[in-house]
Amino acid sequence: MANVGTGVNPLRVAIIGAGPSGFYVADHLFRQREFVVELDMFDRLPTPFGLVRAGVAPDHQKIKSVTKVFDRIASRPNFRFYGNVEFGTHVTLADLRNYYHQICYTTGAQTDRRMGIPGEDLRRSHSATEFVTWYNGHPDCRHCQFDLSQERVAVVGVGNVAVDVARILSSTPDELAKTDIADYALEALSCSQVKEVCLLGRRGPAQAAFTTPEIKELGELADADVTTLPEEVELDDLSRAALEHNPDQATIRKLEILQEYSTRRTTSKSRKLTIRFLVSPVELIGDEAGQVVVSIRLVRNELYATEAGTLRPRHTDQFEELPVGLVFRSVGYRGVPLPGVPFNDNWGVILNEDGRVINPGTQQPVVGEYTAGWIKRGPSGVIGTNKPDAAETATCMIEDLAKGFILKPKQPDVAAAERLIRERQPNYFTYADWLRLDELEVARGQAVGRPRIKFTSVDDMLVALGR
Ligand code: NAP
Repeated sequence: MANVGTGVNPLRVAIIGAGPSGFYVADHLFRQREFVVELDMFDRLPTPFGLVRAGVAPDHQKIKSVTKVFDRIASRPNFRFYGNVEFGTHVTLADLRNYYHQICYTTGAQTDRRMGIPGEDLRRSHSATEFVTWYNGHPDCRHCQFDLSQERVAVVGVGNVAVDVARILSSTPDELAKTDIADYALEALSCSQVKEVCLLGRRGPAQAAFTTPEIKELGELADADVTTLPEEVELDDLSRAALEHNPDQATIRKLEILQEYSTRRTTSKSRKLTIRFLVSPVELIGDEAGQVVVSIRLVRNELYATEAGTLRPRHTDQFEELPVGLVFRSVGYRGVPLPGVPFNDNWGVILNEDGRVINPGTQQPVVGEYTAGWIKRGPSGVIGTNKPDAAETATCMIEDLAKGFILKPKQPDVAAAERLIRERQPNYFTYADWLRLDELEVARGQAVGRPRIKFTSVDDMLVALGR
């Protein structure tokens, strides 16, 4: 048999997860010239693009245009998409080892972190990720319910996801109608009674995780006034000293914006969006029956410097109670373990070194298994951050191939894998199937002046393609 990675015996790669990281790994493997690669990309959904479809806010269509790059990668003859095929259900790790030389996990971070405070599981307390997947029409969340008859909502955390949630809650039906938000979400949000959204940051304005364009956008909403409290956007001594030492322009600009918000007068707009700092939720308080959230107990924080110089929040003895009828915790995503794949439970990532999956017993790389993206490094950075991350992983894959450190599958040919998948999941989606579905979604949208109207259930997707 010819060497692996040649025309007659190509390197067979399975990528698990069709989000940005999966596509960037594919791209890097295709760009190298040394070896011939035949690559199959799996996703448990019939639709590709992971968080670009189900995470990026519907009013951020420009960010979503990165899918054109993914379409180009997918148009290579040595790329195949197997959508609606779940790793661990339809195909197992043991199966894949029979068909591929290398397997790369790019499944992202599919759940959320918790606050770990009493009352977190009361009704009307939700994770932001659940709300985001709901309004983005992810099949998992289409039946989720959020009580939008509540007038005041707390969003815990001041990252970009918290900002997305606050912005969607504060947008008008007209603003939302221009987006590809799920139809049912558009309807529910159009009837929303929400009058005030409070974003709650546990540290100060200089430590806020959101980025400048995102925070600026909150000041430009059609029917919501944005505000901050002057005393909370003043820099404390430690933050001022840190900024003088490292005058980071992005932080300075964010501070200017937040301070300007504190000087804005309330207008006749019907909603208010308040961004708070140096407060931590310590408890969600329920109604008399102890069933639903009616308020959130906050403690005021002060900052202190750790030995490493990081400014961390510390509780003071000052408390306040904020009446709220709905709470979204937006304190970060978290990775979910995959069956049979070593996992670091503390960090919520696959155990790995530079993208090589590590055996926890020997601390040595597991032959033929790799990872990239959020499930490799944790839920941080923007879509583009996954490019260098994927390049690092793809480089390891090529280095290992060159050393012969790869799996020895019994059936490395493309047709054999296709037969297996057809047998396990006859309703799998190819990339051509997805492109047809995409066309249908766009056409449905165009008819009513929207970018697209998504299919939000797998059954509807199958029916749309005449299955
Ligand atoms: P993030 O940026 O890590 O923000 C998490 C926020 O939660 C931080 O403000 C953090 O505060 C806070 N937090 C964590 N634990 C907390 C606790 N126990 N109590 C109170 N607050 C707590 O995460 P994210 O917003 O989920 O976003 C994930 C990634 O996606 C980020 O890199 C983000 O930039 C990116 N993203 C980008 C866009 C965009 O470009 N438009 C949109 C959405 C998401 P501390 O800082 O004090 O820990």
